Amino acid sequence: MKKFDAIIIGLGAYGSSLSLALAKEGLSVLGIDMYDPPHSYGSSHGDSRIARLANGEGDTYTQLAIRSRVILRQIQRKYKTRLMYRSGGLIISSEDVTEINHVPNVYRNTIKMAKKYAINHQILSANQIKKRYGIFNLRGNEEGYYERDSAIYFPEQCIKYNLLYAKELGSVHKVKEKVLKITENRDGVIVVTNKDRYAGNKVYLTAGAWNNSFLKKERLLNKYIKIYQQTLFWFELGTNFYKKYNVGRLPFFIWELPGRHKGVYGFPLIQNGSGIKIATEQYAKHINISRKLKRHNIDSKKFYDNYIKPNFFGITPRLIKTVNCMYSVTPDNKFLVRDVGKYKKITLVSCCSGHGFKHSYAITEAIAQIHLSNKSDIDISSFR
Ligand SMILES: Cc1cc2nc3c(=O)[nH]c(=O)nc-3n(C[C@H](O)[C@H](O)[C@H](O)COP(=O)(O)OP(=O)(O)OC[C@H]3O[C@@H](n4cnc5c(N)ncnc54)[C@H](O)[C@@H]3O)c2cc1C
Repeated sequence: MKKFDAIIIGLGAYGSSLSLALAKEGLSVLGIDMYDPPHSYGSSHGDSRIARLANGEGDTYTQLAIRSRVILRQIQRKYKTRLMYRSGGLIISSEDVTEINHVPNVYRNTIKMAKKYAINHQILSANQIKKRYGIFNLRGNEEGYYERDSAIYFPEQCIKYNLLYAKELGSVHKVKEKVLKITENRDGVIVVTNKDRYAGNKVYLTAGAWNNSFLKKERLLNKYIKIYQQTLFWFELGTNFYKKYNVGRLPFFIWELPGRHKGVYGFPLIQNGSGIKIATEQYAKHINISRKLKRHNIDSKKFYDNYIKPNFFGITPRLIKTVNCMYSVTPDNKFLVRDVGKYKKITLVSCCSGHGFKHSYAITEAIAQIHLSNKSDIDISSFR
């Protein structure tokens, strides 16, 4: 049996970029996925992801977002394809906001990070936001952080090209093959699937919302990650509003709404006819992924009445489509990149909480550096 330097379980956002990062370092890599990524069953689908550069979540996250952009651009250039759109991004907040978005005071911290890392930004008054965009029904005491170089990443396209590039560098990918068991010993790891057995020096567990099934079964970690199903909505626009919502004119937006537990975020129109993609987050009910996806859909009418109708101009109640997608959330909202298991040959990579995509390239680059030399250019030791 051939022994790989690394076996990656799950080839979504993290597994696919890790396969690439390890292959770039010249390592022999086997990646396994039970579906055929990109697909729409995990955490990496739904057309678009917000990529803020200044991250109110702190220095590490800001450094990772900046570095990820560089790597993503390199892939884009190599394949002469579009993996992102530099749309700009707007965060709206006010003194009345009580919501905690990943960390306390994320809005003020974002501004601090932008100043510290010289990220181009503007602070807009409520009047300026109203005049510039004409779609937000503001109360008047809001303020906006506008970041020019914020972008929208296209997750399915990113995964497709990560896998392609990694394969060109020698990674082996097995799809439609389910990993059933991982065992580790002093010499390495054995991974058993529904089709075969594989040997490796190390396993990276990048199974997203399914990481838990291994952690529980193999008794690897006692601080479990909770899985929250989120619902994304696409609503039709009023005929006179297409221009206002068009990409190039409207940035993506995150609005921390006063008096609401969670805010609302949305994307400009990228494709005509596709409707405006807009969503909130729910942390009221988590799901058990192994009990074949008992859905907790957010009701679209309630969402429209509570979040859209009072706050936006030009979005009609006509629902074009909805999609469900899963957040993996730790008790303190932190990402996890840490060894689990007795012999430290299994590394868990769990970076979701609704903001992991934009960091995936730099985190997996750091993991590949640690694999080789036990240290990385960007320090991710706080994720342990
Ligand atoms: C609704 C939503 C909105 C988000 N918005 C943003 C955003 O705006 N900006 C941002 O930066 N991030 C955002 N995120 C977070 C980001 O999308 C995630 O961090 C990222 O997609 C997580 O990728 P992953 O590789 O961990 O999981 P996944 O992409 O789900 O990959 C896990 C893979 O493991 C495979 N797998 C599982 N079990 C097995 C098994 N037994 N055998 C073989 N394969 C297996 C699955 O098939 C899957 O392909 C959002 C997430 C969601 C859900």
